[in-house]
Amino acid sequence: MRQLEWNLSANLLKEYDEKLSRDGIDGERLAARLHEISKIGLTSDGGSHRTGFSNEEKRAKDLVKGWMKKARLEIYEDGAGNVFGRLEGKNPKLPSVLSGSHVDSVPNGGHFDGPLGVLSALEIVEAWNKEGFQPERSYEVVIFTDEEGSRFNSGLTGSRAMTGEIEKDVQYTLMDQKNKPFEKVLDEAGLSASAFFEINRDLNEISHFVEVHIEQGKLLEQYGQPTGIVSGIAGPLWLDMSFEGEAGHAGNTPMNDRRDALVAAGEFISKIHALPKRVSDTAVATVGKLNVSPNGPNVIPGEVKLIVDIRDISEDTRDELADLIIKEAGNTAENYGVSLNYKQTIRVTPVPIQDEYIDRLEKHLQNHSIEPKLIPSGAGHDALIVGHHLPVSMLFVRSQKGISHNPEEWSTLNDCVRTIHVLREYIESLTKE
Ligand SMILES: [Zn+2]
Repeated sequence: MRQLEWNLSANLLKEYDEKLSRDGIDGERLAARLHEISKIGLTSDGGSHRTGFSNEEKRAKDLVKGWMKKARLEIYEDGAGNVFGRLEGKNPKLPSVLSGSHVDSVPNGGHFDGPLGVLSALEIVEAWNKEGFQPERSYEVVIFTDEEGSRFNSGLTGSRAMTGEIEKDVQYTLMDQKNKPFEKVLDEAGLSASAFFEINRDLNEISHFVEVHIEQGKLLEQYGQPTGIVSGIAGPLWLDMSFEGEAGHAGNTPMNDRRDALVAAGEFISKIHALPKRVSDTAVATVGKLNVSPNGPNVIPGEVKLIVDIRDISEDTRDELADLIIKEAGNTAENYGVSLNYKQTIRVTPVPIQDEYIDRLEKHLQNHSIEPKLIPSGAGHDALIVGHHLPVSMLFVRSQKGISHNPEEWSTLNDCVRTIHVLREYIESLTKE
């Protein structure tokens, strides 16, 4: 039933200020396109289900490719299924400017995370076509494959493949929830392992990547601004920790003769909460999962395994926080006569955005009467991976209540279109030099 009533476009247009459609940028077209994509993989509660390498992701890419073709972009696809729509510049020998995002989603996700970045990048070409404008540098609209990584618990697959950040051995061993190997999934998606592992895009051909994305947080809502400048993209560091004490009978072991691993781990977790602000305003640390063993109601916990997820937009402060956390774990374990083992399992380099680009974006926001606010991105994006190799920048669009990865995800069309006006001015300046 829901499918019959579904009309994302009409809902977006309900509160749209038509005066924002100007200079070749068209809010109605954007709403219609978001709606067309939303119909692919639409769930019964109005969410989006287009996991990476699925038929739905492919259909969404094909739909956008049709629009790219209509906008006279030259389409190129690499071995990971990343799609590039290229507009040749007046000086095609200069490295190009790229903008885009992804069209895959988490299971039952929202309709803005990903597609908005791709369609914003395409809207710039529509505006240029209308005015007969050709940029100095070439410009490419990009759709990265499998950003969310829901199928293999990984993610950022397309951007990692393009930049050579895929470890072949690790990728080959990945299995999806139905125990299908990565190679078989590639095959079903019309891709081949040999082509996937042989992408060698010359990164010297690219001068800059800019991504528009919904904020997935509440800061812009608090600031009352439609658009924000991303100050940096946090890279996670994971510490796998194990507190080992001694299991025993909950009734027969006196309180002064216990080595309770959960008491130590519990105290440690509550102490972590106060540590991030000691290194920076943007650092965060989280323990989201515990494995307690033997895990019985009348047994003193003998062992607790946990993972501490630590993030910041600067590598130095993030590592400083990791050291503080390790020290705290050691001290707490010692106080309770429990032993501690730990190892670092994930370490992704964060990407601070260069001041030069932040300064420029501030100016462009002010030109559009938006107060420039800097927002750190705690979540990873394709721009994080590309940013390990090339200059990148990101614009965030205000998210209603900060809700994301959920059918309730919402950004107003006004906020989306105001962001695209800023993006256009910024991309014009990037393609000029
Ligand atoms: Zn995303």
